[in-house]
Amino acid sequence: MKKPQKTWQLAFVLLLSIQLTGCGSGSESLPASAEPQITTSTTIAKETQQPSPNPAIPSSDATATPMPSAASKPGESGVNAPKYRMNAKTFRFEPISDKATDKAVLLTFDDGPKDEGVLASLLDTLDRHGAKAIFFVNGYRVKQNPELLKEIHARGQTIGNHSYDHIDLKKETDAVVEEQLAKVQEDVERLTGVIPRFFRPPYGSGSEVVRQTAKNHGMLYMTWSNGSLDWDKSAKDKPDVVIRNVLDQLHPGANILMHELQWTADALDELLSKLEKEGYTFIDPGSIELANRVTN
Ligand SMILES: [Zn+2]
Repeated sequence: MKKPQKTWQLAFVLLLSIQLTGCGSGSESLPASAEPQITTSTTIAKETQQPSPNPAIPSSDATATPMPSAASKPGESGVNAPKYRMNAKTFRFEPISDKATDKAVLLTFDDGPKDEGVLASLLDTLDRHGAKAIFFVNGYRVKQNPELLKEIHARGQTIGNHSYDHIDLKKETDAVVEEQLAKVQEDVERLTGVIPRFFRPPYGSGSEVVRQTAKNHGMLYMTWSNGSLDWDKSAKDKPDVVIRNVLDQLHPGANILMHELQWTADALDELLSKLEKEGYTFIDPGSIELANRVTN
């Protein structure tokens, strides 16, 4: 909870745009199944954001004034019936509930947890907009920063699995793929008590084996449909570029790829405000329909 309050003040733009780039090569195509509903039972334990009607206090962060947006109300995650289904080929989301709007986007942040200040800024901004997101973490980062992982969870955000070493899983043996996913599942569960339900392969580079392994671990496999290119040189230190990239690729149900980077954190507040102005809400990961779990 100690968040450097300076960072978010700079907050400004965020960008994103071109799809495939983000974490890699984006080369998926296999049909994964979008199955019937199994709600996440554990994914999000809200410890800090009670859905209290009392607009007052987000317990852990006095500076953030949560303004629940239509699509994501703290406290609903994982408990109610799913509201969104992901298209397994395009990784976009469609509403499956009358209560859900198609003008909604999923926010995701990859490659952390690594920097306390950047992470705190992202978390504060999400709180301020009443937004939920998935933080796709790498195991080696979790090992370096276990407290930051716990903080993501404590702030009511969802943790996703992004493999242990951030390697191109497509090139690895089945055994390595299993190990890369399983270790993250174990470590995240040990540290937070919650098992990740979402998986994104590094570089967007997957294979049938990777998909099946993710499914075996009860995770919904996804890449993205809106890449912010925040990792690209063209966006470095330029929040406005991040914002423009995301807006240029904006579409209903967008699965927005971003990273735990300073300029992305600096862009987030303005980006979310612009999305809200366009009429968009933010998809609560807890309202996403999960693939069937395979138990074995
Ligand atoms: Zn990545």
